[in-house]
Amino acid sequence: MIPYGKQDINKDDIDSLVDVLKSDFLTQGPKIPEFEKKVSELSSSSFSIAVTSATAGLHLACLALGLNKDDYLWTSPISFVASANCARYCGANVDFVDINAETYNIDPILLEKKLIEAKKNNVLPKIVIPVHLCGHSADMEQIYLLSKKYNFKIIEDASHSIGAKYKEYPVGSCKYSSCTIFSFHPVKIITTGEGGIVTTNNSELAKKIRLFRSHGITRDKSEMLSESHGDWYYQQIYLGFNYRMTDIQAALGISQLKRINEFIDKREKIAQKYNRDLSSLPLRIPKQRNYVKSSRHLYVIRINNGESRLKHPEIFSQLRRLGILVNLHYIPIHLHPYYSKLGFKKGDFPNAEKYYQEAISLPIYPKLSLENQNFVIQSLKGLTT
Ligand SMILES: *Cc1c(COP(=O)(O)O)cnc(C)c1O
Repeated sequence: MIPYGKQDINKDDIDSLVDVLKSDFLTQGPKIPEFEKKVSELSSSSFSIAVTSATAGLHLACLALGLNKDDYLWTSPISFVASANCARYCGANVDFVDINAETYNIDPILLEKKLIEAKKNNVLPKIVIPVHLCGHSADMEQIYLLSKKYNFKIIEDASHSIGAKYKEYPVGSCKYSSCTIFSFHPVKIITTGEGGIVTTNNSELAKKIRLFRSHGITRDKSEMLSESHGDWYYQQIYLGFNYRMTDIQAALGISQLKRINEFIDKREKIAQKYNRDLSSLPLRIPKQRNYVKSSRHLYVIRINNGESRLKHPEIFSQLRRLGILVNLHYIPIHLHPYYSKLGFKKGDFPNAEKYYQEAISLPIYPKLSLENQNFVIQSLKGLTT
């Protein structure tokens, strides 16, 4: 069996976990701030807040930016459902901006068109969440310019793209956003088991996210709304959650971060080989914009259903039958029954829906062997020509 993605855990990773288990702290110890500092260094951001998952990070970012019941949040229909669900957790409305047909990210031109319409109807979004699909950054500067004109905040869903770059800026630098979210689920670039992090340069936002991460409780006298009762005292000032990462997870994250460049280099080599060996087949290989360095989280091909010997669903099933556990990232969010019930329907986002009929995620992960990659390539050749 060849999965589409897989973690790479070595002896140093395991040793770092054992060290934490033998230490005084399993949670809320020194590993969390150490991991946060390392992620801030990597991403050139002022603050990092480690959380239980990217989903939790998206929720906290929305809360901290004040997303409320009557507000709108816009995101890409081609993403994991968490990119939209975070708005629903806050009781807010969700809408989508169709993808660019080449990058599969939110299209800034379509975004502007939708903003012009929304302004007329007085339903401008409070937050827009671009998703850097596959590790390829969305066109952040264009989206940022629109955010100034139409007065919305930006959260980057960078679950796929720690270690990637947009122009000369590391993803997570928040040069063009309020905050950025990374995921450390095992299929992502580095892992902590479950886990995520929020990066930001805004100290007020960082403070709020830290409070919301831990029940809305503060031990800092300067933040309390009334006099402290004594040295034991803490005070709940918001309704927060328990979204804290453990020291065990943070230690794994610190250890994994040491190899992030190696991981991305290996992914890049695999992507380059796919590019070379698949370019003559009746399918589309992913295009990279020249302003981007991708982390190559996913390698998505699009089947040319008009020219290919077999069509998309058959190719997908045949590859699985051969033990190649391809995947499809993603089912357009608006087509899930939960979102259909909110009023979305087929035809709403045509670029996303066309993508869905053609996309297949091929295996790509640091430990993918040359032999297995060749098997994937030969199998695809056989099924498409
Ligand atoms: C994986 C993923 C998430 C959710 O990450 P978790 O850490 O599993 O909560 C959100 N958005 C995107 C685009 C993802 O790929």
